[in-house]
Amino acid sequence: MPTAEQEKRYSRQIRLPAIGPAGQDRLGRSRVAVVGCGGLGSVLAHVMVRMGVGRVTVIDGDRPEASNLHRQILYDEDDVAAGKPKALAACEKLRRINALVEVAGRAERLEAANADRLLADHEVILDGTDNLDTRLLVNEWSVASGVPWVYGAVAHAQGMVLAVRPDNGPCLVCLFPETAAESAAEEPLPIFPPAPVAVACLQATEAVKLLLEPAQVNPNLLVLDLWSGSCQQIPLQRNSACRCCAHRRFFYLTR
Ligand SMILES: [Zn+2]
Repeated sequence: MPTAEQEKRYSRQIRLPAIGPAGQDRLGRSRVAVVGCGGLGSVLAHVMVRMGVGRVTVIDGDRPEASNLHRQILYDEDDVAAGKPKALAACEKLRRINALVEVAGRAERLEAANADRLLADHEVILDGTDNLDTRLLVNEWSVASGVPWVYGAVAHAQGMVLAVRPDNGPCLVCLFPETAAESAAEEPLPIFPPAPVAVACLQATEAVKLLLEPAQVNPNLLVLDLWSGSCQQIPLQRNSACRCCAHRRFFYLTR
């Protein structure tokens, strides 16, 4: 059960029937990894730490830039001037937000060679990346290891979210079967800053459900358009011929 300190700090969320004291206790014993700490990852890490997830690992090899500040809510002008890696700057902020949470920063880019070391021992992987190659790597690691992950992506004022449960439902390759060569991005896409905040909040919601009540996880692909205010839920099926989750043929993990 939560301690008196936890009861006080988290009282407004403990009173939610979906969480309760037992759910808060479960969150406090949970371990999540945030891969990429930019527009999505800043919000993901923020929400996980504020809610009292026991251990939050932030993985990002970049340093904050001025062009990040319009949307990446964990960083400020001092961080840009200091040039400290995002993973470490984020950790300093996150520890000041909630000292009850164990926050770990990994200033590395996730790759096949370090995926096991960085991701093992987490219960949910949260996608804060900005490229399809890393997402496909996370997807393969998830299918190979059985650990669920929550995909999120943003462009312009639009976004998508999908909770991927290797034991149940489609994986990212079921959704995007032929994606191999798409990722070498020329120029970064325009981003309307509220969009990654909204997408990350939906991802965080699915992560909490994966930890507390997996049966409640949304099986649909969520497609948002902030500008028009629309949110569609698109039913997906696992592809019985999927090279990743059906045939377990991995391209990104074996590079
Ligand atoms: Zn699949």
